[in-house]
Amino acid sequence: MTAIAVLGSTNMDLVAYVAKAPRLGETVTGRDFRTVPGGKGANQAVAAARSGAEVVMIGAVGADEFGVRLRSALAGAGVGTAALRTVEGASGTAHITVDDEGGNSIVVIPGANALVTSLEPGDAARIGAADSLLLQLELPLEAVLAGALAARAHGVRTVLTPAPAQPLPAELLAATDLLVPNEHEAAALTGLTDVHLAAAALLQDVPEVVVTLGAAGVLYAARGREPLAVPAPRVRAVDTTAAGDTFVGALAVALGEGRPMPAALRWASAAAALSVQRPGAQDSMPTRAQTDAFAL
Ligand code: ATP
Repeated sequence: MTAIAVLGSTNMDLVAYVAKAPRLGETVTGRDFRTVPGGKGANQAVAAARSGAEVVMIGAVGADEFGVRLRSALAGAGVGTAALRTVEGASGTAHITVDDEGGNSIVVIPGANALVTSLEPGDAARIGAADSLLLQLELPLEAVLAGALAARAHGVRTVLTPAPAQPLPAELLAATDLLVPNEHEAAALTGLTDVHLAAAALLQDVPEVVVTLGAAGVLYAARGREPLAVPAPRVRAVDTTAAGDTFVGALAVALGEGRPMPAALRWASAAAALSVQRPGAQDSMPTRAQTDAFAL
């Protein structure tokens, strides 16, 4: 079994469904409300576990009811939670308003995630035992960097999702093996809106890049090789929440199993295409058997 470590965020998404989002100072009556486990780290961990890996989640939840639920959602998906600390205060939350047009506005309060500023005893060994370490930018950068350096020291592949987009320290890029931005993040990192040019520019900093392009699929670029475009399977999307996280989790598993990059990209694209056909974030992620059947 492929072993994956995730160092990242765990949030409770608090989703209010309204006809029209309120303007500043306005109060509106909404239609529905849901609490949904999320956070890019936790989402990638669940995606990897469903894809058939043994997964450990390193991070923190708060000492509140959300923390209990976030932990049990991960455990229920088969993710190891021994390195998920419970810290004083509130869990991370994302306050999301979704209107009838499908538009949304989001306030993220990092809560417990903000307290993860370094690795705890045992974390470096957990990372060292993994095939890949999955990183995103919803934890403080110093923790992300510490994780990447621990992975590098152990020869573990680091896969960085640069979201939310922000300037990246050279030290972090130098410790990154595979960067997986979406097209907006690729543009924000490089100042280039042409995806081929952006990918080429990113290769100055990291050896391999996969830019995700939504329904258009992905563009893979590696130093010294021709870029490879992999189209997404054509499906009817109902909810693309966490499609990127599903893709990354599945990709890491396929690479860990030794599949060549083109085959791994196709398998991960199948997993992500399955996830967009179902509502929800972690709930929408396919199992390994489902992805295998769809990828045939
Ligand atoms: P999110 O923030 O919703 O997780 P993202 O912006 O990080 O997504 P996208 O580039 O939108 O990432 O999507 C990631 C991958 O998911 C795509 O590269 C593709 O493989 C798959 N995907 C997304 N939307 C669709 C779609 N409509 N049809 C098929 N596959 C899709």
